[in-house]
Amino acid sequence: MSAGRLAGRRALITGAGSGIGAAAAWRLAADGARVFTADFKGAVDRQVDVTVPGANAALVTEAVERLGGLDIVVPCAGVSAFHPLEGHDDAYFDMVMAVNVTAVFRLIRDCVPALQLSAHGRIITIGSTMAQFGDAGLVAYGTSKHAVLGMTRSVAVELGQYGITANCLMPGAIETPMTEPAFTQMPQFKTYWQNKASLGRLGQPEDIADVIAFLASDDARFMSGQGFFVDGGAMQRQ
Ligand code: NAP
Repeated sequence: MSAGRLAGRRALITGAGSGIGAAAAWRLAADGARVFTADFKGAVDRQVDVTVPGANAALVTEAVERLGGLDIVVPCAGVSAFHPLEGHDDAYFDMVMAVNVTAVFRLIRDCVPALQLSAHGRIITIGSTMAQFGDAGLVAYGTSKHAVLGMTRSVAVELGQYGITANCLMPGAIETPMTEPAFTQMPQFKTYWQNKASLGRLGQPEDIADVIAFLASDDARFMSGQGFFVDGGAMQRQ
């Protein structure tokens, strides 16, 4: 950890009331950033439903007012659950797209004017191993995460002219409230991911937060348009 490497930086994180987003908020703050946090719930600066039209624009406005500008944006709010294709209803698919894709798009779009004024603009999206692979029961989630990776790559190309980088983290199985029901109800699923990881363990939110802090820092200034597996080596194993 490099204390103070984000001193003076201003960050907006959604999904910051839980799991990876909460860990990212703590980690960026520990590195010296001032952080504006948003989520449905939890001890955050703004409770919000990111799928409501205008909600992301309002978040950006409030964050800029509170922090005096914006350098780092992490759209981390997300949803996931297992739904087999058979009987998969439209409403669940649409909801996953609304949270995991449309809200991410809106937040990125709405923060561009603020990031253009920053000398260190950073957009760090949260994909998944499901951004490059698939799994049974994860049609909606996998579709959404492939979209986030594609969105990030195009954003990186378009905003590079302003010195803004955009990268997508693709976590493996991380122990958070999102995965807790699946790991509890399907212990074999938990064991599968533990064994699949070359490092032999599930990820913790801090494993992802530390990489978010790295991508937000000057150390990652020449990295853009990338998707990074942070999965303990899981996707290298057949
Ligand atoms: P988490 O602990 O459930 O955190 C996600 C947060 O987003 C929750 O507080 C959730 O609130 C909030 N949220 C959901 N919909 C929202 C909405 N419409 N408006 C505002 N907030 C909303 O899950 P996590 O594991 O930290 O996931 C964070 C991100 O990492 C997600 O994008 C997820 O897809 C991604 N990811 C996670 C894993 C993993 O294994 N955990 C792996 C790969 C990628 P509610 O709890 O009330 O819904």
